[in-house]
Amino acid sequence: MAKSKVTPSRQQYLDIKAQYPDAIVFFRLGDFYETFDDDAETAARELDLVLTSRPQGKNQRTPMAGVPHHAAEGYIARLIAKGYKVALAEQISTETVKGLMPREVVRVFTAGTVIEPGMLEAGRNNYLTAVIRDGDQYGLAYADITTGEFATTQINGRRPLTEELARLAPAELLVADNEHTLHDQSKTVTPLPNWRFEEGNARQTLRRHFGVSTLSGFGCENKPLAVRAAGAILYYLQETQRGAIDQVQRLATYSTEGYMALDTATRHNLELTESIGGDKSGSLLGVLNKTVTPMGARLLRQRVTRPLLNLDELNQRLDQVETFGNDGLLRADIRAALKGLPDLERLANRVLSGKAIPRDLENIRLALETVPEISEKLKIDDPRSKIDAHNPIINLQSLIINLDPCPETHDLISRAIADNAPTNFNKMGVIRPGFSAELDGVMNSSAHAREWVAQLEPRERERTGIQSLKVGFNKVFGYYIEISRANSHLAPDDYIRKQTLTNAERYITPELKEYETLILNAEERILEIERRVFIEICQQVAQFTPQLLQTAVTLARLDVAATLAEVAANFDYVRPVLSDESGMMVENGRHPVVEHSLNRERFVPNHSQFDSNDRIQIITGPNMSGKSTFLRQVALITLMAQIGSFVPATKAEIGLADRIFTRIGAHDELHHGRSTFMVEMVETAEILNHATHRSLLILDEIGRGTSTYDGLSIAWAVIEFLHNHPRLKPRTLFATHYHELVGLADMLPMVTNYNVAVAEEGDDVVFLHQIVPGGADRSYGIHVAQLAGLPRDVINRANEILEELERHAPTTSVEPSRFTPSQQMALFPETSPILEELADLDVNTLTPLEAINKLYEWKRRYAGK
Ligand code: ADP
Repeated sequence: MAKSKVTPSRQQYLDIKAQYPDAIVFFRLGDFYETFDDDAETAARELDLVLTSRPQGKNQRTPMAGVPHHAAEGYIARLIAKGYKVALAEQISTETVKGLMPREVVRVFTAGTVIEPGMLEAGRNNYLTAVIRDGDQYGLAYADITTGEFATTQINGRRPLTEELARLAPAELLVADNEHTLHDQSKTVTPLPNWRFEEGNARQTLRRHFGVSTLSGFGCENKPLAVRAAGAILYYLQETQRGAIDQVQRLATYSTEGYMALDTATRHNLELTESIGGDKSGSLLGVLNKTVTPMGARLLRQRVTRPLLNLDELNQRLDQVETFGNDGLLRADIRAALKGLPDLERLANRVLSGKAIPRDLENIRLALETVPEISEKLKIDDPRSKIDAHNPIINLQSLIINLDPCPETHDLISRAIADNAPTNFNKMGVIRPGFSAELDGVMNSSAHAREWVAQLEPRERERTGIQSLKVGFNKVFGYYIEISRANSHLAPDDYIRKQTLTNAERYITPELKEYETLILNAEERILEIERRVFIEICQQVAQFTPQLLQTAVTLARLDVAATLAEVAANFDYVRPVLSDESGMMVENGRHPVVEHSLNRERFVPNHSQFDSNDRIQIITGPNMSGKSTFLRQVALITLMAQIGSFVPATKAEIGLADRIFTRIGAHDELHHGRSTFMVEMVETAEILNHATHRSLLILDEIGRGTSTYDGLSIAWAVIEFLHNHPRLKPRTLFATHYHELVGLADMLPMVTNYNVAVAEEGDDVVFLHQIVPGGADRSYGIHVAQLAGLPRDVINRANEILEELERHAPTTSVEPSRFTPSQQMALFPETSPILEELADLDVNTLTPLEAINKLYEWKRRYAGK
């Protein structure tokens, strides 16, 4: 049998590997973690390690690659970032059993369950999510074990599910084994056996963890899918953390309904957290994120990805921003006090999870120390303000009362933890003298011995007369007395030679060894007591977690409010006036990101307005004139208002939008191997099916991906649909280069035309980037070609051709009056033979060469050339 041939340690490895088939097993061997077989090949490839091998039975070698144990964290982080999982098999004892070191997996690292600060981004949550499907209903749960957040919901339909996942941007997604349709929703997808999502199991896992008999306290008792998803998450956390996950203390059942829905494409198009090119600074968050604490940075990101629909809550947020906006001194003070504050939220969670080190408690103390100072600054110390009921500082009261300095915790840590405590428990000095009587007792009893050793050097120098005599310590020999070779003949008789170096001899004495034993024994006990006392302290601190977390959240809110005020002050934003109406009015609006990339003075502000009679705006204008920028700007201003931020404008009244839809360009979709036009139509269909009167639609160049007439007809029909459907009439901005669409405004009362102003100076054309009423009459495409650097000859020739075409083909600018909603085919002069041919042509199968030949042919036949 194969089994009998392998060595015991190989068998041990194989047994462990069998339990973690989908993880890379890091197998501890001495000072290294080794990987074997396929794992070794993966690790060597992904981590640039040397792939070696070791003999395995007769004529056989197994591939092997290892990393030093002290550097493992960095290597593990790299594997996790690439979507792998790592199981850490440690030596769990120093005693061998039947000649074999006992080993066990003590931890499984996965992207969604890491807690090591080095593997996490400070400014964002690290979400583990789980999804379970039943028909078209989904249960979605998520947890961030670094902050203790744990929430679950039930979602009706695939689209809202995808949207919610897009918001969470999960580090890892758990799905049932037989669920194959969700694998594109996260970089790391972990299938779990179906029974892990089974309702009975899930309920039991949750009840046992929280020590409750019913889940009604969490609001999900009657939401089986939410329960199943949450249960799977908890099980997986228990499994990967190999033990208690005390930091998960609550479960919130939520609904996605209170928030503005944003689909993946819209998040992407509006560049909320990163630009389309993938960099963070070119995103809305990049502009707004001037937070000074990690908690604040995470909260701001959450807000940007989750705009609200609740007027009261938004006004409360805006009030806070205004307070800090009005009082620049207060703002500067608070920001200075918050700056560099340790991550109280993650620290408190590390204490809860039993993973804290002494420095973590020290950092909690530092954070708490700042709290009274911050509360003090926020107090109303101006006597006038007490009479003035409108004093805006009142707006911060709700925050001030939640700022708990947790004096008990602060006091405990101050008394217990020594300054500059060592970072691990291999060194003494974690606990401050005077805190633990037991510890002090052992310290005192060994103090005499330590004093004796400390005095040994001067004493022996005097006795022997050797001034260069030294007392030292090393791990192998313990304490020793060292005398240089030249003086070694002076060593007294009671010195016992222990070690010979090139230039010196080392000695011990029986007395020295006795004191050494005393000291080392005491040290061992001290280390043991310190560790025990530390754990007790952590348990006490853990009892105050709710207060600590509340303080952390409040600090985050303060940070965000002060940050948004700072940004508003620096970049001249105004407070938007919000309402539940469906109109909007923005005066001198600017694009929050583009205005920076341009040098702010050069950015041309634009108005925009919708009311109950003006719902759909068609913006025609040359390419590169600023249509897309304007569209996104209106969407971003709306979104900013709905996260409670001031907005880049001189005045803004915003009726809350239930959703923002965007359909913008499709340049980058081709990489994904999907037809541009197909993608565009799928997205357009989504919009038409899900928009409401309260939505904001940003449609850029719909129909561009197909032939002119197809595209024009589709664009035309889309606008009619939006206009005529009783549920719809959403605020719509429709940018297009089809000037023919201008005619719609004459027929549909709620449609208006705008264009981007252009100044013509002789042959030159200047884009003014200004959106003005009325339709555009020319496309200026050739002008753009000129800007792009096409040779002068080509430009001249193109102008000639254009003139020619315009003369011969009057149909290129179709008279609006010829269009009626039911008569779209009237776009084309009915009698033209060219049209019959066109109708027969299958554009999808035409090669570019065939198309151009066709053109030549028609030109020859119908234009006589
Ligand atoms: P279009 O959608 O019409 O093709 P874009 O919106 O992409 O045009 O704008 C093209 C360029 O014009 C942008 O990259 C930007 O540099 C500039 N631009 C756009 N809007 C403005 C503005 N309001 N003020 C100044 N420059 C602008």
